Amino acid sequence: MGSEEVSNKQVIFKDYVVGVPKESDMELITSKIILKVPEDSTGILLKNLYLSCDPYMSGRMRKNRGPTYVETFQPGSPITGFGVVKVVDSRHPNFKTGDLLWGMTGWEEYSLISSPSPDMFFKIEHTDVPLSYYTGILGMPGITAYGGFYELASPKKGDRVYVSAASGAVGQIVGQLAKLTGCYVVGSAGSKEKVDLLKSKFGFDEAFNYKEEEDLDAALKRYFPEGIDIYFENVGGKMLEAVLSNMRVKGRIAVCGMISQYNLEQPEGVHNLFHITTKRIRMEGFIAREYYHLYPKYLEMILPNIKEGKISYVEDVAEGLESAPSALIGLYSGRNVGKQLVVVARD
Ligand code: NAP
Repeated sequence: MGSEEVSNKQVIFKDYVVGVPKESDMELITSKIILKVPEDSTGILLKNLYLSCDPYMSGRMRKNRGPTYVETFQPGSPITGFGVVKVVDSRHPNFKTGDLLWGMTGWEEYSLISSPSPDMFFKIEHTDVPLSYYTGILGMPGITAYGGFYELASPKKGDRVYVSAASGAVGQIVGQLAKLTGCYVVGSAGSKEKVDLLKSKFGFDEAFNYKEEEDLDAALKRYFPEGIDIYFENVGGKMLEAVLSNMRVKGRIAVCGMISQYNLEQPEGVHNLFHITTKRIRMEGFIAREYYHLYPKYLEMILPNIKEGKISYVEDVAEGLESAPSALIGLYSGRNVGKQLVVVARD
């Protein structure tokens, strides 16, 4: 590609958000970009292909945040997040034109990354699977599911496993890994369509719509009369409270996320934490990047399973950068069915 100036559509973060983010908190603009890395830089110029919508992103829109592990978005700058990209120019020794990568990029057609840090991008070596998978099952959510389940929850055959937000990017993978391990697996999700998917496509033993349950504690007792060994926590709040009452002695809770709390000004309380002591429960949080070193091992395991059809994967694909704000916001009302991503360009 030459050094011509081209137009660059961008999704700009307008200003800090209170409560649930809205589409109007983001704005599509068109600017210009020269498709060449400046001579005095060791940067890379990327063409963005697929962008990932992830629940943690609403936290980055808030000014007065609680505990966090990722920086706040800058008002007036493009949203940033995980994506699949193609290198169109490079002055960095580790990257060359034509490389396909996944990692942190901008919500725009082209991004100039002036000094890519070593852990910012993974090279995509396997292209006999859809490239979009690197926003999900072959990207950050995949390694999250793998690390959280195998490393942290210490599963063994016969364990009774419960997964919340089970049809989403992370949940659908966790449920299937648990089935591969020989566990009994139950998932919850927020619609009939998702519940059907859990049972018919992802092979969960049981699934229920938590929105239709008046008493979550009773619902869990129905599916786990002998209690839960492993809870893969994606939701938090009242769901966590109901789970704690139903955990078995020496149970494990892998705290991946708590989406029900992300957009509240005042987080909800959980009132029965003493179960952790009486049942000697191990409850531990984690962040995907702690398991990045396991990525090659994960790929070795997951790629054959995908190719042989032993692991299914469902994506919710939004077309075009203009659809990105709505796709992101949809996560917080459960509009997405499967991994939510946005196609900016297919090559
Ligand atoms: P996802 O499940 O694909 O999408 C989010 C889903 O959460 C929605 O579709 C919705 O499904 C559910 N949800 C939204 N608001 C809810 C509420 N108030 N109560 C209950 N459920 C609600 O998202 P994902 O990418 O797989 O992420 C799942 C969880 O993992 C999130 O908590 C996320 O922050 C966390 N995560 C953590 C890490 C890490 O490094 N620790 C990495 C990736 C993801 P329903 O229709 O089922 O309600």
